[in-house]
Amino acid sequence: MIVKSEKDLVNTYTLDSSNFRGEAEKVYIPENEVELAELLKELNSQNKLVTISGAGTGLAGGRVPKGGVVVSSEKFNKIIEFNENKKTITVQSAVTTNEISEILEENGYFLPTNPTETTASIGGNVSTNASGSRTYLYGSMRNFVEELRIILTNGEILILNRNIKVDKVQNENLKEVISLTTLSGKEIQLPILNYEIPKFKHSAGYYTSQNIHPIDYFIGAEGTLGFISEITLNVMKKPDNILGLIVFFDDINKCISFVEELQNNKINYNDNSYKNLTTANPRLIEFFDKYSLKMLREKYTQIGTQYESAIWVEQELFFEHGINNEEKSDLILSSWYDLIVKYTNLSDETWVAQTPDEHRKFTEFRHTLPEKVYELIAQNNQYKVGVDGAVPNGNLSNLYNAIVEKSEKYNLNRVIYGHIGNNHLHGNVFYENERDKENAQKFYDEALEQVLKMKGTVSAEHGIGKLKVKYLEKMFGSEIINQMRSLKTSLDPNHILNIGNLFNF
Ligand SMILES: Cc1cc2nc3c(=O)[nH]c(=O)nc-3n(C[C@H](O)[C@H](O)[C@H](O)COP(=O)(O)OP(=O)(O)OC[C@H]3O[C@@H](n4cnc5c(N)ncnc54)[C@H](O)[C@@H]3O)c2cc1C
Repeated sequence: MIVKSEKDLVNTYTLDSSNFRGEAEKVYIPENEVELAELLKELNSQNKLVTISGAGTGLAGGRVPKGGVVVSSEKFNKIIEFNENKKTITVQSAVTTNEISEILEENGYFLPTNPTETTASIGGNVSTNASGSRTYLYGSMRNFVEELRIILTNGEILILNRNIKVDKVQNENLKEVISLTTLSGKEIQLPILNYEIPKFKHSAGYYTSQNIHPIDYFIGAEGTLGFISEITLNVMKKPDNILGLIVFFDDINKCISFVEELQNNKINYNDNSYKNLTTANPRLIEFFDKYSLKMLREKYTQIGTQYESAIWVEQELFFEHGINNEEKSDLILSSWYDLIVKYTNLSDETWVAQTPDEHRKFTEFRHTLPEKVYELIAQNNQYKVGVDGAVPNGNLSNLYNAIVEKSEKYNLNRVIYGHIGNNHLHGNVFYENERDKENAQKFYDEALEQVLKMKGTVSAEHGIGKLKVKYLEKMFGSEIINQMRSLKTSLDPNHILNIGNLFNF
């Protein structure tokens, strides 16, 4: 096992893409599960704080250590199997989103969620319940995780598979609990968390539901419950073709109405009629406000200065199920055209993508934006201050207006972009001096207050990490946070793992 203790080397593990910095004594890089299990057991016996590191692209400080040591997943980088019969892929947790996409692509498959940051590890994606552009249609990582292999702090190995029935028993206090058995035969009892979570896009705190499967506790747990060593994902066959459009708007309210009309007409991918559709029904709806377009104009000079906002959509086309293929494509295009002219005077400016190369360029266009945002954040030497909230249907313009109003109140430069189809916007503000830093914090507090008033979530995809702990408590209240603590204690009784994520002790 590699151990790094030189300060410069350790420092590369003590921050993430939020630019939040922590500290650690050492970094351990186990090569395999046996080494990892022994290491965790030893550190647990010393009560040493342990922070799990994936690729470090997180945006909430989740992998940032608050002292103690870092255990990096980086050597868990093997692709184990793509199984076409089962439509699954099994990988170790440091395999990147990009590597998974490449293998699937070669075989004509894809991971529907498609987390946006391609250098992120799949372990990080599962631990933050990451989302991607296609989450509008397909939901978050949770929907595609079939099996997890997890190493607990006492060195025990737990395998959780969605198809394996969960045993519920009464514990010594006559309370119903989930009973799990580790590979070595040890029994673990987990509490059944009993609270409501939002039904829309949400990645804040432990998941629960009626008939909760324990695998769902670990997805989005931000490394607080165990080290995920191996993951099996359900994947899907690629559609026959994709239509991509970037539509520009001269009026922000009409842009929002355009999205709402699409939301109202949404047909789910598991609906029988989905593959035969001849009307506009996108798999992704992404938003760019005027300041995002301004930022992108440095590279994409063709963006007109009169554009107020833009929406990127993609729709899947399935030919073998449809009527005449060309006719079907024409019907879908004309359905989009009708919708676009209804909501913008800039319909002639629409960009169209139909070939893989054109789709790649659209994806690059979208990804350039957060890259530029994080570059600017690093350049300003500021923490990321960005709303990651989602709200229930019917509140989209309230969410947008709240971010605009609060950034204007504090005179902060902003960009608003993101997954508007899920009523989920990233509202980032920038600061370069101490006064604006305080104002940025006030902006963030007040914007999230508005999100909570709309019964929204404080994090729809980046997670809580260490940067949003107080907002998780605001969202759920102390009784529910205590339930979350009890789940953590049942798996990590010495409280050594990823301490400071989600809540404090
Ligand atoms: C340009 C850019 C764009 C982004 N776009 C999106 C987006 O569209 N959607 C989205 O959801 N996120 C996005 N992100 C955020 C980030 O990519 C995700 O949060 C990602 O899931 C983090 O993965 P990672 O491997 O970098 O994890 P890290 O940052 O290393 O860790 C994240 C959390 O996961 C835990 N963890 C990591 N590996 C394991 C493991 N094996 N076992 C247990 N716990 C583990 C860590 O302890 C930490 O709490 C973006 C980031 C950037 C920089």
